[in-house]
Amino acid sequence: MAEKVLILGAGVAGLTSAIYAARANLNPLVVEGREPGGQLTITSDVENFPGFAEPIAGPDLMAIMRRQAERVGARFISGEAIAADLKRCPLVVDLGAQKLEAAALIIATGASAKWLGLESEKRLYGKGVSACATCDGFFYRGKEVVVVGGGDTALEEALFLTNFCSKVTIVHRREELRACKMLQERAKRNKKIAFEWNSMVDEVLDSNKDIVTGVCLKDVKSGALRELACDGIFIAIGHTPNTGIFRGQLEMDDQGYIRTLKASMSTTVEGVFAAGDCQDHVYRQAITAAGSGCMAAIDVERYLSSQRFCVPEA
Ligand code: NAP
Repeated sequence: MAEKVLILGAGVAGLTSAIYAARANLNPLVVEGREPGGQLTITSDVENFPGFAEPIAGPDLMAIMRRQAERVGARFISGEAIAADLKRCPLVVDLGAQKLEAAALIIATGASAKWLGLESEKRLYGKGVSACATCDGFFYRGKEVVVVGGGDTALEEALFLTNFCSKVTIVHRREELRACKMLQERAKRNKKIAFEWNSMVDEVLDSNKDIVTGVCLKDVKSGALRELACDGIFIAIGHTPNTGIFRGQLEMDDQGYIRTLKASMSTTVEGVFAAGDCQDHVYRQAITAAGSGCMAAIDVERYLSSQRFCVPEA
């Protein structure tokens, strides 16, 4: 039998929509996706989620949110949507092992870390190349690492890595950071952190040794190349929305973020809603993901009560 509402993704947006949908008696089913808990599971301390006077570890916050969703009646299955047919009613989502049908769908599939796109980066992934300081920082105790990027993620990763590493060099392609002022000040004050401005990683060294020994940096102004020795490199240059399976079925912007209609979380397809980082390229905060997850669930409830022909029998 078709679900009333299917939620794809168990990050902040997915779990918040699950809490609201469950409390609206919609008996939501959450497909957890590739990274249950979403990006906060690879975040260290969260200091800006209201309700926590002291910093809370990202994975702990997600575990609490998941327990809350379960307590109010949300159901969970592991699996990842590999295809969807949004022209049908009920809508169809293919998990590979099974196909699910639903009257309404909330897409909360989030976003994944971007890579530089270098061959050497790919080859040395897991051998000194990482996109997650929380996951891998521990392996770099007493070592020197490079963090690429100038946003909040890069600076948070760099600060976190100073707990283990002897030196952290932030490589940024401009001479001005994008990160918030508080993180900038903390990073600039930290004696273990150095900056390489106007620089891009041209090559991760050394593919021949099958382990990271350094990076070749390119000065973006002069084009000059220079080598910087390091034991690891953390890429923190932003994210790409996980919306590939909906391409051609939903309107998206040129980066793949799903378009939602003004003042709602409805997409351009009836019965399909989107929330969180797969839809928001502007704010991208845990709290805004929670807000949009809440809005999507409220929109679903209104949609289902106004479109009775497509609501599966209880
Ligand atoms: P971001 O804000 O998009 O920053 C990406 C950084 O990587 C930018 O500095 C960018 O340089 C650089 N970059 C992008 N592509 C690059 C490339 N190919 N080569 C070299 N450098 C490249 O991404 P983010 O830091 O992951 O943050 C994403 C969102 O999450 C933001 O809204 C942020 O505020 C939020 N966030 C918040 C917190 C927090 O509040 N605690 C923590 C983490 C993230 P340019 O500056 O030159 O564009």
